Amino acid sequence: MPTDVALVIFLLIISKSGYAFYSTLGDILHFYSHAALHHPELIKFKEIELQNNSLSLPLVTIANFSTVAPPKPVAVLVFGEHARELITTEVCLWLSKVLLGDHKDFLSWSQTVEAVALAAPVTQEKDLSQWIQEWRSMILSKLTLKVLPLENVDGRVLWEGGDLCRRKTASDVDLNRNWDFAWHAQSRSSEMYGGEAPFSEPQSRYLRDAAGQWKPVAFINVHSGEWAVYTPWDSRESLGAGLLDLDPLVQKMGKICDCMAGPSGAISGYLAYGTSMDYMYARLGVKYPFTIEVYGGGDSGKLKGKRSKPLSTFNITTAAYHRRMLLQPGLNQKHHSSILSLVANSKQVEKGCFQMFNPCDENVYREVISHWVVSLLVMLSTIAAT
Ligand SMILES: [Zn+2]
Repeated sequence: MPTDVALVIFLLIISKSGYAFYSTLGDILHFYSHAALHHPELIKFKEIELQNNSLSLPLVTIANFSTVAPPKPVAVLVFGEHARELITTEVCLWLSKVLLGDHKDFLSWSQTVEAVALAAPVTQEKDLSQWIQEWRSMILSKLTLKVLPLENVDGRVLWEGGDLCRRKTASDVDLNRNWDFAWHAQSRSSEMYGGEAPFSEPQSRYLRDAAGQWKPVAFINVHSGEWAVYTPWDSRESLGAGLLDLDPLVQKMGKICDCMAGPSGAISGYLAYGTSMDYMYARLGVKYPFTIEVYGGGDSGKLKGKRSKPLSTFNITTAAYHRRMLLQPGLNQKHHSSILSLVANSKQVEKGCFQMFNPCDENVYREVISHWVVSLLVMLSTIAAT
């Protein structure tokens, strides 16, 4: 078969595979590096060096920097804490695009029209783009967003290396069980292994110390595996004291996602120990503590006995992989093809892992993105207005 014919057939297969809309680690870092260069008045990007520079943590700050104003309340948003939950970082990318004003595509989706209709009435006085603009201005002028688009970078590197069921970091720790509130010792083989001790991991220590300085008014931790809007407690079957005022916001977000909303431990069917949401709420007094679960392919996000591949199968010296990727010209397209074929050609079990945590159909992808971006705009603008 001539090479060009083979190429056309390959591209056709790829375009039908349904994963073309996902970004790689390289795409994500590339996007934020460029955004910071092109919109210095709205966004800053830096990679925080951790663990003697062997690990870095991408940090994005979004606010209207062009006006001189007293320090604004900070909202912290964390995405990509669990490696396989790719869709969470996609929500982050699209939220960032909308906040930067690059939302032409987003506004053209029928799913966005539906999402906005659930959040706010589109009337003759105010149309779709005006609602988005109103939320956007409120957020940019009144808040500073501190965003971790991809907290678990080394886990993501292993994921892109073929470990499609990976949840934890390359050190085999669940970052959302590593916090010093109701922390429990667990077996290392557990998918909820919270490390040898609370704050054993550099990512958690960084976020703890940074949050101690930022004193955030809101903390929003974004996951997938189910659909939900959670408030504390993760570690108890009850609502955290002083959170009753959040009810209208929680109800509204529950309406937009058409999903369960309320105290996590009481409605999810499981308790989680040593989580960042419980810590931010209990130890730092964060007024708006949330965990949102943006997509679930099955009835829940439980592992049901599946295990990740052993770490020894992979080269774990590649923690600086993402930085090298940024330096490679033509990286995006080349790597994009490899991630597409990675999912499309993976074994059924691993494909199942992908499907449990991430939408595979582009229409569903747009539905998830549009509804959660609108939901986050509503949440952040509500917080900004108080
Ligand atoms: Zn998760």
